[in-house]
Amino acid sequence: MKKVLVLGAGQLARMMALAGAPLNIDVVAYDVTSGQVVHPLTLAPVLSGLDNAIRYADVITAEFEHVPHDVLDACEASGKLKPGAAAIKAGGDRRIEKALLDQAGVANARYQLINAETDLVAASQHIGLPLVLKSSLGGYDGKGQWRLKTADQIPAVWQDIAAFLADAPAQSIVAEAFVPFQREVSLIGARNQAGDTAIYPLTENVHTDGVLSRSLALETQGDLQQQAEGMFNAVAETLGYVGVLAIEFFDVNGTLLVNEIAPRVHNSGHWTQQGADTCQFENHLRAVCDLPLGNTKAIRSTVMINILGEDTVPTDVLALPGCHIHWYGKEKRAGRKMGHINVTAASHNELVQTLDTLAQHLPSDSFPVVRLS
Ligand code: AMP
Repeated sequence: MKKVLVLGAGQLARMMALAGAPLNIDVVAYDVTSGQVVHPLTLAPVLSGLDNAIRYADVITAEFEHVPHDVLDACEASGKLKPGAAAIKAGGDRRIEKALLDQAGVANARYQLINAETDLVAASQHIGLPLVLKSSLGGYDGKGQWRLKTADQIPAVWQDIAAFLADAPAQSIVAEAFVPFQREVSLIGARNQAGDTAIYPLTENVHTDGVLSRSLALETQGDLQQQAEGMFNAVAETLGYVGVLAIEFFDVNGTLLVNEIAPRVHNSGHWTQQGADTCQFENHLRAVCDLPLGNTKAIRSTVMINILGEDTVPTDVLALPGCHIHWYGKEKRAGRKMGHINVTAASHNELVQTLDTLAQHLPSDSFPVVRLS
């Protein structure tokens, strides 16, 4: 029995625990806020304190990138942390992430670091307008972002940013060229210690107010898949990466630009639980436990729909063929990721029909993007 400690005690640790059980991999979760090791499903305390947690584990991994650096450094020093601290830190800080993308030589939006109003003026001239301004730390799901469309907005936008920075002195701002993309896609793949990789088909993602609503596993993407895999390999090799790595891209007329990386299993890979031969959670555990990687082939047409801010859906949904609900056992809060529904079908056309039926059962304000038709 391998003992895997996950830094973070949310739904990703929970789904890793569920995927690990058949392989005799015992997953426990370290709640970085309380300093307790907990059972990933019941959240019952198992152990207390980081030192005990590190001693207990055979392997340590993370389910989120905003782990305090002292915790990451202590885990790294034990030699058990996979992926390594550098990869996790890159996922949690856009400054490190952008430097990594440049080092790996992968295409991403032009950028400049902003620490003063004069930087904003310079960026608007060098990169051009519009600009997307993002907080370097803790900004995810569209939070901590501003748009600068015209030069006359600079004083007002800077005032807003200056107030934000005054409250969060460790933050700075990355100004990025606005990318006129047609759609957003992501690639999930696993890499093991030996450098073998297992990569899933690209997923097309739709966000609502900056939060993922729907992910569709794409079939036969040819050139696009190749571009994405090339960039995945470049980033993973640069980091000496071990585990599942997710990369989000902008698709601009068939050319991919990296938006951001997530050094972990990812919401846009949840479809693999029903739609792929081996799910991302199992492949992450296989990679970090140095086991052979599982087949990543899509085995049917699949979509994932996020359940946001709702703790129930009509039970009729379970009667629809191909609909699989995954709850996270969390307390209801507006907009919170509470669970997801994986919808599978034998063909794309059948999937379109099932989603039409599913949409009739779900409240459209909480589920704005269900239909593919
Ligand atoms: P992020 O937190 O970086 O993933 O950004 C949240 C969302 O903002 C993305 O999913 C995009 O829809 C949008 N966005 C982020 N960066 C850019 C950009 N450089 N150009 C256009 N849209 C962007």
